Amino acid sequence: MSQKKFNHKKRFGQNFLINENIILQIANSIDYKNNSQIIEIGPGLGALTKHLIKKCEPIIIEIDAEAICYLQKNLSKKLNIIHADFLKLNLNSILKKKNIIIGNFPYNISTQILFKILEHKNKIETVVGMFQKEVSERICSKPGSKKYGITSVLVQAYYNTQILFNVNSDNFRPKPKVESTVIKLTRNNTKKINCNEDVFKSLVKQSFNLRRKKIRNAIKLNIIDLIKIDLDLLDKRAEELSVEDFINLTNLITENES
Ligand code: SAH
Repeated sequence: MSQKKFNHKKRFGQNFLINENIILQIANSIDYKNNSQIIEIGPGLGALTKHLIKKCEPIIIEIDAEAICYLQKNLSKKLNIIHADFLKLNLNSILKKKNIIIGNFPYNISTQILFKILEHKNKIETVVGMFQKEVSERICSKPGSKKYGITSVLVQAYYNTQILFNVNSDNFRPKPKVESTVIKLTRNNTKKINCNEDVFKSLVKQSFNLRRKKIRNAIKLNIIDLIKIDLDLLDKRAEELSVEDFINLTNLITENES
């Protein structure tokens, strides 16, 4: 089967990279020497995979049977392929102690992929991924920025984030409607954030859902909470609070309850 005969499936978010320089730059963004298992999500026709297999034995996860046939025929018969929907896959049986995830992720489910990665954060030390530009910016934004939001806080609680480079839509076939950005996430030293994680998540969500309001009006607080909490924090808006501020706020709110 040639690339030309391949039947592109829009429903699987198939936009294949065709610029070799960019493909190589992505492949070169991870460290192959630290004994981590390398997992590629969505290999497609193997643009990245062909570089990975020169340096390691990656596990590749692909939903499209036709793409898998193509890879086995054109890349190698011995690939370690899992034919599955990444979002439905039980990662516990696949992840080793230390794992690196890499991929040019399908745009339609890229945020869901990211949240699934977060569920396994203690085993995933690095992520190098291509996302829609706006999504990448949201993940990596810092307090004070209009783009700083729920995703930024929930990811940055556990990962250091870095924008690697932008990729213009001309570098794909078929050409997507959006621009893309490759980012790198590196696990920080926080094993577990120092507060009740469920309350933390719900607080972050509540605060940003009413992001124009001051925290005192955006989140549900009772009188006792209001007395305990530093006035400065209450008069700020969500986008001004750091991960640390959200952790402190969570602890102030939960202190009385435990
Ligand atoms: N890495 C390739 C292809 C990127 S396109 C390249 O850069 O050229 C995204 C790929 O993810 C496609 O191959 C698509 O079939 C696959 N994909 C889409 N949804 C998926 C899912 N839920 N689980 C696993 N793979 C998926």
